[in-house]
Amino acid sequence: MPIVVKDLSFAYGKGTPFEKKALDGVSLTIEDGEFLGIMGHTGSGKSTFIQHLNGLVKVQSGEIDVNGIKLTSAKRPKPDLKALRAAVGMVFQYPEYQLFDDTVIKDVAFGPKNMGFKKEEAEEMARQALRLVGLDPDEVGQKAPFELSGGQKRRAAIAGVIVMKPKILVLDEPTAGLDPYGKEQILDLVLRLKEECSPTVIVISHDMDEITRYASRLVVFGEGKVAFDLPMEQLFEHGRELEELGLEIPTAVRLATALKARGIDLGSGIVNMDTFTAAVLKKFAEKGVPVKEFCGIDWFGERSKKSGIGAADDNGSADIFGEGI
Ligand code: ADP
Repeated sequence: MPIVVKDLSFAYGKGTPFEKKALDGVSLTIEDGEFLGIMGHTGSGKSTFIQHLNGLVKVQSGEIDVNGIKLTSAKRPKPDLKALRAAVGMVFQYPEYQLFDDTVIKDVAFGPKNMGFKKEEAEEMARQALRLVGLDPDEVGQKAPFELSGGQKRRAAIAGVIVMKPKILVLDEPTAGLDPYGKEQILDLVLRLKEECSPTVIVISHDMDEITRYASRLVVFGEGKVAFDLPMEQLFEHGRELEELGLEIPTAVRLATALKARGIDLGSGIVNMDTFTAAVLKKFAEKGVPVKEFCGIDWFGERSKKSGIGAADDNGSADIFGEGI
C-alpha cells in the first residue's frame, strides 16, 4: 500500500516564542516500489518530514496513511507504533553512531529482541541481515562495533534496521561523509536491499549527480513545502528555480544544456550520465558512426576521414556532430 500524506504541517516549539515552522501543507503520495529521492536545501523540512513516517515526530496537523496505519493529531485511536516501525525502517545520518551494544550480533539483534523474538531467533535474524548487507556474521558478529572499519560500521548499522525486513526503507543522507567509492558501495547496497527486502526506498540526498543515478522519482522541498514533484526530465527544465532553492543541477543536464546552446540538441530525457551517454551515442549513430568505431578502433582512421564523419580536424578534435566541435 502506498504512503499518502495530506496537508501535513508542523512547527517546533509550537505556541512558544521560539516557534519554528518546519512543514507547511505537504501533500505527497509515495507508491509501493518507488525509489524516491528527496532533495532540498538545509532547513527545508526533509528530516522533519521523514521522521513523521515512522512516528518519531507526532502529527500536529494534516494526516498520514502508511500501509493502512493512520497518523493524525487526534489522541484516539492510538496508532500502532510497533507495526508502523516494523513497516518503516529508518536509517539516520551517520548510522554508525547508532551502534551501542558490546558485540555486532547483539547490536543487530536488538530490534527483533525488542519486538519479542527469543534470543536465538533474534540472533539468527541478525546473521541473515548481516549477510544481506555484505558482512560475514562469523567474521564480524562477535567483534565490538568499534573494531569494524568505517564502511563495515555503516553496513552493520543498516543491518540493524533491515533486520526487521521493513517494507519501506528510509535513509537520511546515507552517503554523508563517505569517499566517492564508499558512496557508490552504499547506494549499490541500498539498491540491492530494495530488490531483496524493502521494495520502497526513500533517500534524502544533497547530491544531484548521485541521486539522479539511483532514484526513480525526485521530490524537492523548499521552505517546508513541496516545491517540485515532477518527472525528472521535466524537473530539470526548472534549472533556475532549482538553483534559487540552493540546489545544483546534475552535471549531465548542464552538459546537455551547454551543447544545446551551441546548436547540438541531444533531445529530451537527459537526467544523469547514463541518459547523457545514451543520447550522445544515439547522435553518433544518427550520423552513421558505428559505436564500435567510436569506441576507439577506427575513431580517427581512414574510414572516418573518407566519410567526413567523426574525422579529426587539424587540431585532432573530432567533428562527429558536424558542428565544428
Ligand atoms: P532539513 O532536513 O531539510 O535540513 P529539518 O527538517 O531538519 O530540515 O528542519 C526544518 C526546520 O526546522 C529548520 O528551520 C530547522 O532549523 C528547524 N528545526 C529542525 N529541528 C528542530 C528542533 N529540534 N528544534 C527547533 N527547530 C528545529
